[in-house]
Amino acid sequence: MPFPDPLHSVATQQWEQVKESGEEALLTAAADVRANGSFGERWLVVTDQRVVVLPGTGAGEDGYLAIPLADITEATTETLVGGGRLEVQQQGLPRSVLEYTSSQAPKFAEVARGIQQLAKGQPLAITDELPKLRCDKCGRLLPEKNGLCPKCVHRGAMALRLAGYLRPHWQQTVLLATLALTKTGVQLLPPVIQKTIIDGVLTPPVEGANTGGHYGDFGFLVLMVLALVGAGLATSGADVAAGWFAASLSTRITAAVRSELYRSLERLSLLFHSKREKGVLMSVVTRDTDNLNYFLMDGVPYLLSNGLMLIGITLIMLLYSWQLTLIILIPAPFVIIGGATLWGRLRPLWAKVSQSWALFSAHLSESLAGIRVAKAFSQENAEIRRFSRKNADLADITIREGRLWFTAFAGLNFITSSGAFLAWLAGGRAVMVGDLTLGTLVAFIGYLWLLYGPLQWFNQIYNWMSRALAGAERVFEIVDQEPEPYREPNAIALPRIEGAVEFRDVTFGYDPSKPVLKDIAVSIQPGEMIGLVGKSGAGKSTFANLICRFYEADHGEILIDGHDVRALQLESLRSQIGMVLQDQFLFNGTIADNIGYAKPEASRAELIAAARAANAHEFIVAKPDGYDTRVGENGGNLSGGEKQRIAIARAILRDPRILILDEATSSVDTETEHQIQQALARLVQGRTTFAIAHRLSTLRNANRLIVLDDGKLAEVGTHDELLASGGIYARLVKMQQEVSKIQTIAG
Ligand code: ADP
Repeated sequence: MPFPDPLHSVATQQWEQVKESGEEALLTAAADVRANGSFGERWLVVTDQRVVVLPGTGAGEDGYLAIPLADITEATTETLVGGGRLEVQQQGLPRSVLEYTSSQAPKFAEVARGIQQLAKGQPLAITDELPKLRCDKCGRLLPEKNGLCPKCVHRGAMALRLAGYLRPHWQQTVLLATLALTKTGVQLLPPVIQKTIIDGVLTPPVEGANTGGHYGDFGFLVLMVLALVGAGLATSGADVAAGWFAASLSTRITAAVRSELYRSLERLSLLFHSKREKGVLMSVVTRDTDNLNYFLMDGVPYLLSNGLMLIGITLIMLLYSWQLTLIILIPAPFVIIGGATLWGRLRPLWAKVSQSWALFSAHLSESLAGIRVAKAFSQENAEIRRFSRKNADLADITIREGRLWFTAFAGLNFITSSGAFLAWLAGGRAVMVGDLTLGTLVAFIGYLWLLYGPLQWFNQIYNWMSRALAGAERVFEIVDQEPEPYREPNAIALPRIEGAVEFRDVTFGYDPSKPVLKDIAVSIQPGEMIGLVGKSGAGKSTFANLICRFYEADHGEILIDGHDVRALQLESLRSQIGMVLQDQFLFNGTIADNIGYAKPEASRAELIAAARAANAHEFIVAKPDGYDTRVGENGGNLSGGEKQRIAIARAILRDPRILILDEATSSVDTETEHQIQQALARLVQGRTTFAIAHRLSTLRNANRLIVLDDGKLAEVGTHDELLASGGIYARLVKMQQEVSKIQTIAG
């Protein structure tokens, strides 16, 4: 039974009645909105006889409903603000069944299908593999269905995963660790040397005490000072060497992460890309990986050497005087607790800063992309105001973060320096009573700064670490997405397809609960030219997208030459489909680059032949640099008609078996249109073609027309057949004829 939601909290009495009726429960599903609109459970049980809604425990009779299946003609879901409603047509009248929140929308879309199937006497055939919208662990809404929950990704796991990138560079890693160890060792020397100078050279020997007999020995003093200089030089040397290795290691790791990220972005489906803002993705590829680089370069070596130093200092101090060590360490827990509190307060702020940056760059890239529109509508000032608002928001949050950080940090600083007060007090007294030598006290004070200095900075490093790991989370979240099955090993490779396309009861929605195409069933012969007709938003482009498998059908199958597209190798499928779109994207390169994009190995002669066939050769050679003319960003240096002909040349060069022409001849003058039509006529020869055009006159050559209406297949037939039938197509043709008549009169 699909959705076998546990029926534990169902109102028992009514449930018993259903069970006693002897009917078989075929489908049960819990909804999360009660009859009175409050949050709470309600239950839908579909038996072989009825659709029953049962209130949850404690809701009494409220919302009980039973509708005989025999009365139901249709079951649908309606989208409401923040949720949806399941509705049925009961004897031709709409009747609301129950309501639910958005997170349950996919489930009830399936339930509606199920009810409809049962009402029609068909077997129940629905899926219970619903997309995951919430995190299983914390229940938060996921950024996208089946995505990762950013809150539940483990920082430790993230660090381990990053460490995995060190494997190919293990020699350098070992060297870096050795250098860190060496540096720590030499940094611990100076206080010991200072102690030797004070106690051994400068302090008169006390009767009976063994101070090494160097009192007043200038030669020994010089030796000790040289040792100090040596330790200083060695520390700096180790620093430089470690810095070199850290820089190259961290940069290599981040470069590897960035490549992996970009590879994922290229391979992820259009569904993923249509849901993510480009600016946010750009910020992940640039800012997040950059943060990671700096943390790995500076933060990790710092943590490593100072971690070692903390251990070393504590051991040495314990050796000299465990009592004084314990006293000095009294403020340490406060520093750690203070740091943790600070970190807890700052973390949400950092997340906000990062989010603000991402939104900011998304806004920036969008507004720059739309600068032409802004100018056309004289909206520059409005855009500047909008930018200033976003900029001010970003500044506000950064100021709040900065202020909290500096205030808290100063407080923390004071607590840490109290270690020194205690050392002077307790240590000074110990020297007075002769428990401690002056040199040892000075060494202690020296170690104290070495100890508390890094302790303070650990918070700063934490800051870094959190940013870097949060960035790494965002990076890996993308890397871990399921890519398009580009070259699945078991998939069928079709070196040359014939071009037969069949839609078998295909239903698809960009959001599965809102189908855009509904139960489309149509079969197209190889070489046929099909015109796709319908109002704007009817689903024509979506139909074409499904053939390319840019998206996958939610139900039903799409067959190419009798093979389900899901079983075909994506590469072998897409390499045989050509698209000429209304707004053809051109890359910023030369005309030759853009034509050759489909077939990089093509010779110049092939390019020219394709351009000739596309009626593009003449205008190309008329340009100062001919085929080497740069097209500018997204073909900005070319006219609309020129861009379209380049796109046609690109498609001709690709020599696809299936061709998709999406509004390929709109918005150009009559002469250019004639040239484009001619080029297209050459292009469609011998290929299965799907042409989408608003102007129906351009589809005159089509073998058949498919008319879509509100996602349903309304009519299929030739131009003459459809005209004769007097349906939607005939109406559209008539309307366009009238419009063109008016235009002729007006002209
Ligand atoms: P047509 O080509 O007939 O004008 P489309 O196939 O482009 O229609 O669109 C059909 C419906 O799907 C429209 O309501 C449109 O808003 C929606 N739609 C198209 N592309 C997307 C997308 N990437 N994400 C969500 N909805 C989309």
